[in-house]
Amino acid sequence: MTVSKLARKTVRELTPYQSARRLGGSGDIWLNANESPFANEYNIKCNRLNRYSTCQPEELIQAYADYANVKKEQVLTSRGADEGIELLIRTFCEPNQDSILYCPPTYGMYAISAETFDINTKTVPLTAEWQLDIATIRDNLDTVKLIFVCSPNNPTGNLINRQDIEALLDMATGKALVVVDEAYIDFCPEASTVDLLGQYPNLVILRTLSKAFALAGLRCGFTLANPEIIELLLKVIAPYPVPVPVTDIAVQALSPAGLAKTKFQVLDLSANRAYLQAGLGMLDGVTVYDGYGNYLLVKFPDADALFGSLWEHGIILRRSPIENCIRISIGNRDECEKTLAFIREQLNQN
Ligand SMILES: *Cc1c(COP(=O)(O)O)cnc(C)c1O
Repeated sequence: MTVSKLARKTVRELTPYQSARRLGGSGDIWLNANESPFANEYNIKCNRLNRYSTCQPEELIQAYADYANVKKEQVLTSRGADEGIELLIRTFCEPNQDSILYCPPTYGMYAISAETFDINTKTVPLTAEWQLDIATIRDNLDTVKLIFVCSPNNPTGNLINRQDIEALLDMATGKALVVVDEAYIDFCPEASTVDLLGQYPNLVILRTLSKAFALAGLRCGFTLANPEIIELLLKVIAPYPVPVPVTDIAVQALSPAGLAKTKFQVLDLSANRAYLQAGLGMLDGVTVYDGYGNYLLVKFPDADALFGSLWEHGIILRRSPIENCIRISIGNRDECEKTLAFIREQLNQN
């Protein structure tokens, strides 16, 4: 195709994010995208779609501010947390000059968003305990504008030590923003760093309704930060970023009844996670890592072979880049039981 040559060099050479959807598969049990198994019902009013939406719908911003216990000036809503990542990069990083820093193994979109805009990426791998390597990060802050920290971390599932995040915020003061990706924090709200916002003008927190709120298809996320940062992001965001029906549904999800339902579903999924963790933990040669989100990272003797047989059998999981590890999203109890039973059978440990 000759028009391909017209695309930016960066784009021609880019490998897009291998989302669970892009990887395909077919079957009955989908535990590969950290989606919720609960399909909740919502009402939408379609009688005012002739008008543009408000850029930042007051009702939605206020509802999330109340939920997150911050002021409404500290909240920005966008098309998923993924758009929040992109807005931060476009707002704070100068192409071909500035860098982002992140700590693999972690979420893949920080690097891809940066690459799309010709922003350098620096990586400082997590330690053997999957914690931040503070000393090495300190030595690599040159040109860094954004430091991404994911907690609970995807795909490992662990929490990042709070005192390390504070150390990072201190060392980055005046130089870089620390972006804590809390996509899974609703499964362990006590671990949030949201209370540090008042103390650190360079802290940014990413949130989403895609995981615990069971609204991955809605595409609704939030960036929490000090008003100065929110104002800057608002200069860059599209004029009408939030479709009217998205606001309607998100406000229902954040109503007292919606929040009660989410709390109940989080408890249900946590029980299923404990079930799967205990069941897999009983198998010889299998290591299950402690997980705080709606997924578990599990190490098997031969992950490729097992992943393949599960796939053939219609149980679609996610192969993690970590050696011999598979990430399993927590489904409903039936899905967890079937997955555990099949794995047990494959490993000949009935
Ligand atoms: C799922 C996920 C996101 C993206 O959330 P959306 O709101 O669906 O865009 C961001 N960060 C992490 C770590 C995730 O796992």
